[in-house]
Amino acid sequence: MLTLQHKPTLDPIQIEVNPNNVTVDLLRTDRVHEHVSGNKWYKLKYNLAKAKEEGFDTLLTFGGAFSNHIYATAVAAKESGFRSIGVIRGEEVLPLNHTLRFAAYNGMDLHYVSREQYRNRHTSDFMQSLKERYGDFYLVPEGGTNQSAIRGAEEILDEKHIKKYDYFVCAVGTGGTLAGIISKLNGRGEVIGVSSLKGDFLQKDVKNWLKLVKKEHLTNWSITYNYHFGGYAKHKRELIAFINNFKIDQGIVLDPIYTGKMMYGVMDMAANERFKPDSKVLAIHTGGLQGIEGFNKRFGGLIR
Ligand SMILES: *Cc1c(COP(=O)(O)O)cnc(C)c1O
Repeated sequence: MLTLQHKPTLDPIQIEVNPNNVTVDLLRTDRVHEHVSGNKWYKLKYNLAKAKEEGFDTLLTFGGAFSNHIYATAVAAKESGFRSIGVIRGEEVLPLNHTLRFAAYNGMDLHYVSREQYRNRHTSDFMQSLKERYGDFYLVPEGGTNQSAIRGAEEILDEKHIKKYDYFVCAVGTGGTLAGIISKLNGRGEVIGVSSLKGDFLQKDVKNWLKLVKKEHLTNWSITYNYHFGGYAKHKRELIAFINNFKIDQGIVLDPIYTGKMMYGVMDMAANERFKPDSKVLAIHTGGLQGIEGFNKRFGGLIR
């Protein structure tokens, strides 16, 4: 049966109370599964269920060579009895990096395509060529966001969290997780997405995801672009120092692509009185820790 049916209970831990009496707690969804970590667990849950229901035995998805989504999908597929295929952007580099080696070890077939082909991955010609090669498959989009993923992300928060907190802060890539959180809150509290990307198209994307779950009328959310540190997979010394200090001070590991930027943003917003006095903030740790090894290999062991 599906391993992702078990619903974990995660009690937020308190990070800080600042002078305005603002409390910041962290919800550790990185602990939900050893490898299908954080938001990816929630985003895959109903996709796996749907694939099984519809009789598929193969999952196919897309991602970059360091993708948390590829890593998580490989393990989730294996544990749920699916064959998996990862269409990877760019040429094969040997030896395989940590992410792809682990995906392959868990049975994922890696299919490399040029960056140009990757851009055209949504065309019917490309889909057809994949079907000819691999047979019929259930398609999980890049980053894993679709209606089933948003439905899964709604389960990150439960009523106990919703009653207790005034603000909910989450890292944003495609915005699917943020949409699930907004949808679940259904107008309660205030949601702040911290973008890991430079692009300001996310506002529109999240609106579209909300439309998919008939929640486009909700307006209690915003996205900040103040903490992308140069863009996706880019970093600055300040961010690395923050991540390393956070681990020393709190004993909690953050990743440099998403959760480090998100948590940096939360602390900075708290210091700059973005949150009302006496309010309670729930920051959401969406996982992604598998990416640290690849990041350190590329940039010379910055994260301790
Ligand atoms: C994929 C990922 C995100 C982004 O999630 P979206 O739903 O695409 O916005 C955030 N944090 C981590 C750790 C991730 O791996």
